[in-house]
Amino acid sequence: MTAMRAALLRGHGEPLLITTLPRPEPGPGQVLIRLEASGVCHTDVHVWQGKVHAATPPDPFILGHEGIGQVAAIGTGVADWAIGDRAGAAWLHDTCGTCDECRTGHESFCQNQTAHGFSVPGTFAEYVCVTAAHAVRLPAGDATSLAPLMCAGVTAFGAIERANLQPGETCAIFGCGGLGLYAVQIAARAGAHVIAIDPDPVKRAAAIAMGAAPDTALAPGTAHVCINFAPTPATWSPMVEGIRPLGRIIAAAMVADPVPLNQEWLTTSGVTVTGTSVGTRDQMRRLMQMQTVAPLQGQITEIALDDVTMALTMLSQGRAPGRFCIRF
Ligand SMILES: [Zn+2]
Ligand SMILES: [Zn+2]
Repeated sequence: MTAMRAALLRGHGEPLLITTLPRPEPGPGQVLIRLEASGVCHTDVHVWQGKVHAATPPDPFILGHEGIGQVAAIGTGVADWAIGDRAGAAWLHDTCGTCDECRTGHESFCQNQTAHGFSVPGTFAEYVCVTAAHAVRLPAGDATSLAPLMCAGVTAFGAIERANLQPGETCAIFGCGGLGLYAVQIAARAGAHVIAIDPDPVKRAAAIAMGAAPDTALAPGTAHVCINFAPTPATWSPMVEGIRPLGRIIAAAMVADPVPLNQEWLTTSGVTVTGTSVGTRDQMRRLMQMQTVAPLQGQITEIALDDVTMALTMLSQGRAPGRFCIRF
């Protein structure tokens, strides 16, 4: 077998072309993964619509960065992976390993990183080449349950760690879609009092079932931590209203529209405003350990590769029922 099916991006916002392409060969230090499943992320929507551009677009342009499968071929110089091993492809394809961010344990902020479905071909295809050192070791489990952890799960995990959330603190999660629901579970497991905030009562109910407090109202000035997973600037004012003095506001969703930041408020509140981007390999390893001990619940809608444009469209319209996941 030397060919593979893939969803090809030809023009921003155009339907992806389901086509047959040559199966890629793993280069030195890489492994080839035969994918079982790939999640569809909101970042894929941004890249599809042309709202974010890589300096070097992937060729062929295949989106996707939440892939789960088995090692099908091994490049030269790879000793720690074997054919048939279960492996994951996440956002990070490679990092430089030498910059300040890489050397201090913050490799997801590496300015020299390459990323699947952004600067190298991604996981909306039957095969993907990954850097062996960045391939994810996986616990047992269904592929469509594991795939969304490669980005949504590790982003939620990274956001909670970025917030330095402590037991007993109040953590408000804004936006209870795929990422937000993972964050609700991880924050609850960390011993926080979790307030789930979402305009959709169905999503609020799901958050409560996964460990959020029954009362989803956030009293002014009570949250130690506010994390935004909603792809909208509309959550900014409620976060500023709800955060305590010296609290931490974490931007986890990609929101391009500016929000008002009042410096007098910053001066008098002492609030930290920061962002988070996916997660490191160390965070991924610890997330997989958590998944082994007590799996996170997800709301997964399985689709076929042919349905991926429908999934991107529904995500762009905020109509996605949980996480779409391609089953190959
Ligand atoms: Zn993503
Ligand atoms: Zn680096």
